[in-house]
Amino acid sequence: MPSKIPRFSTCSKPGCGKAGVRGGGCSTCKKNLCAQHTAPPFHKCITSLDDATWQKLIHEEVSDLPAKIRIDALLKEASARRDGVKCNFEPGKYLGAGAIMGCANYHGWIRFNDGKSWIVRVPRVGYGEVPNDLIDYLVASEYATLKFLEDTKVPTPKVFTYGLASDPDNQVGVSYILMEALPGTPYISYKATRQQKERVFEQLADILIEISRHPFPQTGSLIEHEETIEVSAFASNRFVALHKYGPFSDSLAYFVQTAEQYLDLIADGQLYHEYPTDAFCFYTMLRDHAHLLVPNEQDGEFFLRHVDDKGDHLLIDETGNVTGIIDWQFARCVPASEAFGPSYFSADLGGLYSGDIGVTSEDSKLAQELRKKGAGDLAAHMERDGFARAFWHGLASGLTRDEARGVIAGVTTGLKSRNLWQGATLEQCEKDSRWGRVKALYHANSESADDSTANIQTP
Ligand SMILES: [Zn+2]
Ligand SMILES: [Zn+2]
Repeated sequence: MPSKIPRFSTCSKPGCGKAGVRGGGCSTCKKNLCAQHTAPPFHKCITSLDDATWQKLIHEEVSDLPAKIRIDALLKEASARRDGVKCNFEPGKYLGAGAIMGCANYHGWIRFNDGKSWIVRVPRVGYGEVPNDLIDYLVASEYATLKFLEDTKVPTPKVFTYGLASDPDNQVGVSYILMEALPGTPYISYKATRQQKERVFEQLADILIEISRHPFPQTGSLIEHEETIEVSAFASNRFVALHKYGPFSDSLAYFVQTAEQYLDLIADGQLYHEYPTDAFCFYTMLRDHAHLLVPNEQDGEFFLRHVDDKGDHLLIDETGNVTGIIDWQFARCVPASEAFGPSYFSADLGGLYSGDIGVTSEDSKLAQELRKKGAGDLAAHMERDGFARAFWHGLASGLTRDEARGVIAGVTTGLKSRNLWQGATLEQCEKDSRWGRVKALYHANSESADDSTANIQTP
C-alpha cells in the first residue's frame, strides 16, 4: 500500500498529507511539495533559475554551513590525530577558480602548523528534502569505503575520523569526514593531453584489476561495524533518489528490487511526477529485462564500484599519473558485470539519449588496456554492452519530459536492435496494481489532451 512507501518529506501544504517530491525542495520558498502542489497554481515560485540566481542561492546556503560547524571542536579532533600539532580552519571556495566543492558536499581546509593539509568534507543538506538519517548513513558509508580502500592499492585519500550529526557525542555539530588532501587536479577528458589520456587509461585498468582482487559476499554499500568493514544496505544512488535498501546476495534480485523501488516511488508521486506514465513504463521495461544485466554470472562475488565516475573523480599530475581517486559517496558493491562494465568515465551521454546503448570507442580502449594486462575476463564485461549503464543512468535527474522520452526510446530501440526485446511493456504496466495510481497522477498534472501512453512502444 502507498502509505508504507518511505518518504523523504511530506507536502508542506497544510492538510495535504501526500509524499513530497524527492529532490523537489524549492530553493525560493524552502518548501517540499507533493506532485500536485509543486506545480502552478498551487506553487508559483520560478523553478528553473538562471545561472546568476542559482549561484546566489548556493552562496547563501553554503555561507550558512561553516557557521554550523563548531570549528574549535573540529580543530581539536584534527590536532588529536597528529600528536597535538596545531591547526587552523580555512573555508573552501565554493565556486569558480580554486573551487574544491562538489555539488553535494562542502569542503574546507585544515591547515597544520607544520605545512600539512587535510580536508573536512561536510554534506550539504539542502532544503530538508533528504532525511538526516540517510545523510548520516551516506557519510558513515563513505568513511567505511575509504577505510576499506586504504588496505588496497587503489590510490585514495586517507581518512582520519568522521562524525554524525545524530551522534550526541559529536562535538563538531554537523556530519563530517576528516581526510587527507591529495595533490593533483581533476581529470577532464577533453582538456587532457594525449600523454595524460594514455596514462590515465592504463592506470584505470590497473585500478579495476586491483578492485577485482577484493570480492564481497553481497551487493550493497560498505559500513564499519565493530571495527570491521561489511556490506550493508545501499546508500541511496547517484541522484539521491532512493532510500536505503538491500543488501542482496543475488544479482537478479538486486536489479529487480532497484527497479521495483523506482516503480513504488513513481506510483506514490515521489519521482518523475512530470511524466509518471513514461517513467513507470521505463522502469517496468528495465525490470523485465534485468536478466540481461547478469548473464552467465556466478552469484556470491561482488565488487566495489565508484558511482560518480565521470572522470573528474580522478586526480592527476601533469604527466597523467593518477594521484588519487576521490568522491566515494554512494559507492556500492555490485555484480562483476556492473563493476567492470561500461561506466560514466567512457560514456557518450549524447549517444545514450539518442538510442545508442552500445559500447563506445573509449569503453573499447579501456577493454584493450585490461586485455593487455591479462584481465580478459574484465575486458569482456567492459565490451559486452552498455545496458547496465543505461539502467543506472535511467531517467537521470532533472530531465524534461521530452528528454526522458528520448532516453526511453533509446533503450527500447537499443534492445530491439539487439533482438533482446522481451515484449510489450504497456501490457505489463496495465497488469500492475500501481498503474491506476500512475495514470491518475498523469491526469492530475497534465492539462494537455495528450494521450498518457502515446510514446510507450509496443512491438
Ligand atoms: Zn517555492
Ligand atoms: Zn500536496
